[in-house]
Amino acid sequence: MDRRTFLVGSASALSFLAARKAEAGSTKGKSPAPAPAPAPAAAAAAPAAPNFTLPELPYKEDALAPVISALTLSIHYGKHHRAYVDNLNNFAAGTEFATMKLEDVIKATNGGDKMAIFNNAAQIAHHTFYWKSMKPAGGGTPAAGPLLDQIVKTWGTFEKFRTDFIDDASRLFGSGWVWLVLDGDVLKIAKTSNAALPPGKALLVIDVWEHAYYLDYQNRRKEYVVGWFDKLANWDFAAENLKA
Ligand code: MN
Repeated sequence: MDRRTFLVGSASALSFLAARKAEAGSTKGKSPAPAPAPAPAAAAAAPAAPNFTLPELPYKEDALAPVISALTLSIHYGKHHRAYVDNLNNFAAGTEFATMKLEDVIKATNGGDKMAIFNNAAQIAHHTFYWKSMKPAGGGTPAAGPLLDQIVKTWGTFEKFRTDFIDDASRLFGSGWVWLVLDGDVLKIAKTSNAALPPGKALLVIDVWEHAYYLDYQNRRKEYVVGWFDKLANWDFAAENLKA
C-alpha cells in the first residue's frame, strides 16, 4: 500500500468510526442525532501491484557464512535492498517511471535531476548483481578460459589482479562499489561512489557500503574484501557476463 492509499484508507476508517459513534450516541435519546458524517470520498481504483519487486536471493541467508553472516545478509537483503524497492515504487508512483522496466528507469534518470529515482533504481540493480557475484564456496581462481586469459593478459598474473582488486575495494573512500568491467575490449577495475553506474559492461561487483560488512567486521573493511575475494567471488558468473 502506498502512502497516499494508506492516508485515504485511514481517513475513511476515521469517518466510519465517527459515524458509528454518532449513531451510538443517538440511541440514548438525550440529544438530537447529529448530522451523519459525510461519506468518505470515493476511494481511487485499487492500486496496481507495485511495478518494482525484490528479486529472490540466489541462496539462503546463512549460505555465505562465516565470511558474511546470516544477520548481515538478512538485513542487507531484507531491509536495505527491500527499502530501495519500496522507495522506488513510492517515488515513481504517478510518474512516467511507474510502469517502466528497471533498466529503462536507470537509463532515463542517469545524470539527470531525478536523483531519488535514479539512486534507488540503480541500487536495486547493483544489489541484484552483487548477490549473483557471490556464491557459497566461491573464490579461488576462475576456471581456464577467456576470463582467466584476459585477466592474465591485463594484469600479468591472477595474483596481481587479486592484489589490485583488494587494494581498490579496501581503499575506496566512502560508500560505493568496486567492479570488474569490460570497458571496450579491456578489463578494468572500476570504483564507483554511491549508486553511480560503472563504465562498460559489468562482470562482477563487491558492495563496500558499510552496511555490507559493518556488523561482521566493523572498521576492518579489508578483512571483508579479502574473505569475499578468496571465498565467495563467483567467477562463473563473471565468465558468463564476459561471454554474453
Ligand atoms: Mn548494499
